[in-house]
Amino acid sequence: MPMDKLAPYSAQPQCSRGRRHPEAAPALRSEFQRDRDRIIHSTAFRRLEYKTQVFVNHEGDHFRTRLTHSIEVAQIARSVARGLGLNEDLTEAISLAHDLGHTPFGHAGQHALNECMRDQGGFEHNLQSLRVVDYLEQRYAAFDGLNLCFETREGILKHCSTRNAQLLGDVGERFLRNRRPSLEAQLANVADEIAYNNHDIDDGLRSGLIGIDELRNVNLFARHLEEVEATLPGLPQKRLVSETVRRIINTLVTDLTTTSRQRIHGAGVDSVDGVRDAPPLIGFSDAVRDECQELKHFLRQNLYAHYVVLRMTAKAARIVKALFDAFVEDPRLLPDEHQRRVAEGPPQRVVADYVAGMTDRFAIKEYQRLFAVDDA
Ligand code: MG
Repeated sequence: MPMDKLAPYSAQPQCSRGRRHPEAAPALRSEFQRDRDRIIHSTAFRRLEYKTQVFVNHEGDHFRTRLTHSIEVAQIARSVARGLGLNEDLTEAISLAHDLGHTPFGHAGQHALNECMRDQGGFEHNLQSLRVVDYLEQRYAAFDGLNLCFETREGILKHCSTRNAQLLGDVGERFLRNRRPSLEAQLANVADEIAYNNHDIDDGLRSGLIGIDELRNVNLFARHLEEVEATLPGLPQKRLVSETVRRIINTLVTDLTTTSRQRIHGAGVDSVDGVRDAPPLIGFSDAVRDECQELKHFLRQNLYAHYVVLRMTAKAARIVKALFDAFVEDPRLLPDEHQRRVAEGPPQRVVADYVAGMTDRFAIKEYQRLFAVDDA
């Protein structure tokens, strides 16, 4: 995108607060494009293909994984960024990286690891995403991690406890001073929500765990479904769902773009500094926000708490806990490169990094290697 199309409140790569390890400027790309490219080439990004979003990878080939989820987030974020004159490269980089720190087995894995790490400062997947790009990726001769720009790193750190903010230095500052991140970061955050609400409807229906008739009680779904039924009668379910979901995404993206534009102009914000001091500016209108809340509530009650999902997540939590305990009890069971790190710090953090990095299927295999008597 030519620079002159960017709004004055967008993040400009030439005004970046820079990288932790100074590097020469790229010849043909902007600094934020380089960040996006480094994320795509990282090992942690490829592992997202085999990490659970809601459904465990082996449950079906058409369900979202963390990789396809992240790509959908980036697609939505870029559409809105273009509409608002924001920096597409930065919002794409943040979107693609936002889940790099997720454990295997989705939120069940994260809760289990957080419990395991309770006496060691806990485990937060946002913070872990930052650890991945700051320390855990090993690709470059001169530094650990991907050495991303401040703005990308700050955007990845969506939430953070006060204690951790104090330990993090520059990227933790905004939590302590109650300031906002860039609009690109705010946007990636809302795009995440648009993506999962919609693909979870789609995956939920595909799995048969929720039905169209239950969703008729959810306003956001019902009003778009009725529109499709009225204009395109007699569609088979697959097309009916797809036509409904694409309309919902369109409504959300349009509402988000229009409302955010009004808020930015209403607040008189015309610089990145202005963005940081203003209240959150990227968001839905009140009516659409309420509809999204209703949908989220429905998905929590009917999909995420469905016994089939809970049965899987309970098993996943046991696997994560068992792996953690076994490695902490005897770090000699860790692969060599992780064992070496045990000498540098508490074994719990090294083990948490190792377990968090696992894909679902690797975690299952590792569990079998450690505990199955007949599969040694
Ligand atoms: Mg996400």
